[in-house]
Amino acid sequence: MVNVAGAGMAGLVASARLRELGAGVAVREKGTRAGGSMLLSSCVVWRHRDFDDFRAECPGGDERLQRLIWERLDEAIAWLVARGAPVVWEETGNPRTVGKRFEPRGLVAALAGEVELGADGRRDGPLILATGGFSASTELVARFISPAERLRLRANPWSEGDGLQFALERGAALTDGMEEFYGRNMPDAPWDEAEFVSLSQLYGQFARVFDEDGIEFFAAADVSWSETNVVQATAHRREAKAYYLLDEAALRQRVRERTVADMVESAPPEARVPPGELPFAAPADTVVAVRVAASITHTIGGLRVDERARVLRADGSPVDGLWAAGVDAGGVATGGYASGLAQALVLGLVAAEDAARTVI
Ligand SMILES: Cc1cc2nc3c(=O)[nH]c(=O)nc-3n(C[C@H](O)[C@H](O)[C@H](O)COP(=O)(O)OP(=O)(O)OC[C@H]3O[C@@H](n4cnc5c(N)ncnc54)[C@H](O)[C@@H]3O)c2cc1C
Repeated sequence: MVNVAGAGMAGLVASARLRELGAGVAVREKGTRAGGSMLLSSCVVWRHRDFDDFRAECPGGDERLQRLIWERLDEAIAWLVARGAPVVWEETGNPRTVGKRFEPRGLVAALAGEVELGADGRRDGPLILATGGFSASTELVARFISPAERLRLRANPWSEGDGLQFALERGAALTDGMEEFYGRNMPDAPWDEAEFVSLSQLYGQFARVFDEDGIEFFAAADVSWSETNVVQATAHRREAKAYYLLDEAALRQRVRERTVADMVESAPPEARVPPGELPFAAPADTVVAVRVAASITHTIGGLRVDERARVLRADGSPVDGLWAAGVDAGGVATGGYASGLAQALVLGLVAAEDAARTVI
């Protein structure tokens, strides 16, 4: 019998694969529902089109894990489709990436078997950790990421580093990049999980970016296409907030199907600031500013694993009977951003296949 802690993307994939392989499985989910952050996501499962781009954009990541995910993703997506996961887009819409967008509820339904809800999944015996990293732990985020202020959570509320703590107590090693995270700059106003996607302010690349003290701290030209780097930088400014200042030309720009003006309009009014009301003198051509707060979706650093998803000690030896999948495993996207769902899908399959060998 293999225990699986967490019924988000990685846990559901691992448990479905274990059942398929004929292994006994017990899936425990801490939250009140299955699906984890995947259920709240845009659900685009993707990889870089070219492996060299993956390396260049995530230079601090473990090349062996990156290659594993990159090489296995297409067949893994085909596996999801074959299980009946509903496809919404056949392509990602981003020329740099390939993959598919799924409908998250249908994806959960396609993978779900029996899941015990409201249960801590950490158990002795063969165990796949799929608890989704530590983004929901204020204490661990403060310790490892050290933001200037508590980060708003843009993810499920249950991923509090339980897998990390459990593995550390058994001698596991951490990866580089523990201070990195994937998130979005969101309007500095109230919002809830239904608005995680629609309210993301994804136009740092066209804005002038100032902090609360009026310091222009990030150049538009340096904003990465995923905008993860400007979000991480915002986390370290006073109050973990920034102002995106926009001129007329910026408002006319498009990010995929939306104009910048449309994204600005969607921000709650309390986050939109007329230039004259900024706490500093704005450049003359500023038409509007949006006050944004850095929010965290998932962590990038985590447990060190090998290509079999086995949790490793600092000396490279595996911790007996312990695997980590999804964003519990660190060191894949270090230095940049890559699909967390792809990481969860491939490592979930790999962990299940390796764990199954030990119990069948
Ligand atoms: C708004 C939004 C948009 C996103 N869009 C995309 C996208 O388009 N593409 C992409 O690749 N990624 C996207 N992501 C990120 C993606 O959702 C995550 O990378 C992915 O869900 C990680 O999978 P996981 O299995 O590691 O964690 P999760 O899917 O979050 O699952 C972790 C599960 O573990 C449970 N858990 C925690 N502790 C315990 C415990 N002790 N015992 C048992 N269970 C526990 C949690 O409750 C949760 O259900 C998005 C995320 C959000 C929030």
